[in-house]
Amino acid sequence: MSYRQKHLLAIEGLEPPAIAHLLDLAESYVLLNRSGRTQRDLLRGRTLINLFFEDSTRTRTSFELAGKRLGADVINMSVSTSSVNKGETLLDTAWTLNAMHCDLLVVRHGESGAPALLAQKVDAAVINAGDGTHEHPTQALLDALTIRRRKGRIEGLAVAICGDVLHSRVARSNIHLLTTLGCDVRVVGPATLLPAEVERLGVRAFHDMRAGLEGADIVMMLRLQKERMARGLVPSAREYFRFWGLDAEKLGYAKKDALVMHPGPMNRGVEIDSEVADDPARSVIKEQVEMGVAVRMAVLDTLSRSGRNDA
Ligand code: ASP
Repeated sequence: MSYRQKHLLAIEGLEPPAIAHLLDLAESYVLLNRSGRTQRDLLRGRTLINLFFEDSTRTRTSFELAGKRLGADVINMSVSTSSVNKGETLLDTAWTLNAMHCDLLVVRHGESGAPALLAQKVDAAVINAGDGTHEHPTQALLDALTIRRRKGRIEGLAVAICGDVLHSRVARSNIHLLTTLGCDVRVVGPATLLPAEVERLGVRAFHDMRAGLEGADIVMMLRLQKERMARGLVPSAREYFRFWGLDAEKLGYAKKDALVMHPGPMNRGVEIDSEVADDPARSVIKEQVEMGVAVRMAVLDTLSRSGRNDA
């Protein structure tokens, strides 16, 4: 097997064969899920804990579904009802979970690096379900699977990642994955929402939507993450939409068959117009959600096998 790590903490550092292994396996889970069959013996007797310190709809639900479809015992730890609110530290929580013999630990946390810290302390295989502004590896994998299934390839495609790149862990994971697989990646947004020296990540930066979208095969929109902004980095929502929101007119600069993506949750009328988001001819946003379950099944499957032998 070409995926040799115990954990999945980031896309950065993964080699193309490891990414291809996860995508190929996920592809087989798409077919299995569509057939209505399950494979409940694979993780029977294994415990999967979903530990979410930040809100989530799609990611938590799809990890839960993925674990259950593979036969794991799945426990959702809600932080608002756990000892974390009584002041227990992240590592105390980890030790507690360890004592329960958790096999797979899915973690979302507001601090970049929290899942990596936990991975050093627990026996379980740790999966990063989003850490601060750092990475969200399963989102990038599900995006890649969606693109590959629709376009038949990933290499050589022009991908425009648009909006609040600065605060987006989705953007960071996608930049690593798509540049590793040979895409022409552009990041598009106001200077205040693009990281300094972003070109060092192997992308081109554009401060004009129309120029950035010109000839793109994929237009990936990002949510404006106001909760991560210490101060106002954007004008009003209406003005943001005028310059940076994706509508049919701006999409016209991309290729005729360009796909529209968004990781959710969407701010309709802020970064994306409903007319575009709900257009079945262009938008693959719902398909991204479906691919999320398959990708998470592939990740759980892979880590449940590789985690036993590696350090
Ligand atoms: N759901 C994604 C994340 O957790 C994207 C977003 O919140 O905008 O990073």
